[in-house]
Amino acid sequence: MPKAATVSKSAKRSARPKVPRVLPGVVSITRQVHFNSAHRLHNWSKSQQWNTDHYGLCTNPHWHGHNYVLEVTLRGRPDPETGYIMDLGALKKILHRAVVDKCDHHNLNDEVDFLRGIIPSTENLVIAFWNEIEPHIKAGRLHCVRLYETPRNFAEYHGPDAKD
Ligand SMILES: [Zn+2]
Repeated sequence: MPKAATVSKSAKRSARPKVPRVLPGVVSITRQVHFNSAHRLHNWSKSQQWNTDHYGLCTNPHWHGHNYVLEVTLRGRPDPETGYIMDLGALKKILHRAVVDKCDHHNLNDEVDFLRGIIPSTENLVIAFWNEIEPHIKAGRLHCVRLYETPRNFAEYHGPDAKD
């Protein structure tokens, strides 16, 4: 019995096509990255009382920090030659260059060029991050940018074409 099984396996091996078989299907892939940043929720066009009423402790003038978790999802069909939509290591590099290197251990209100003038709520951050990441995606298409401010609170953005 064991001998017969061996013969059958090698017969299958020799029957492998030179060109990989392609499976049709649209797939999502996700890369997760982390960064730590300080911020403050504050609308400078409003009074301190208005800000305290809307943001509570989050408008504290001495800042506070979050351990942010960013998840970025691409959708597409696996490339027939690689089986990948995109190498997740390459996606990691894009996310670091576009977002993490600029935000990690920085103040999101004052130190990040592409966030200047924006109230750095999780909602606004996912839109801003999408805008920074999207031009670098050359394979598949950007499907979702999800940002966790805490393990329980997160926002996600599906791009400017998403309906209300
Ligand atoms: Zn906060």
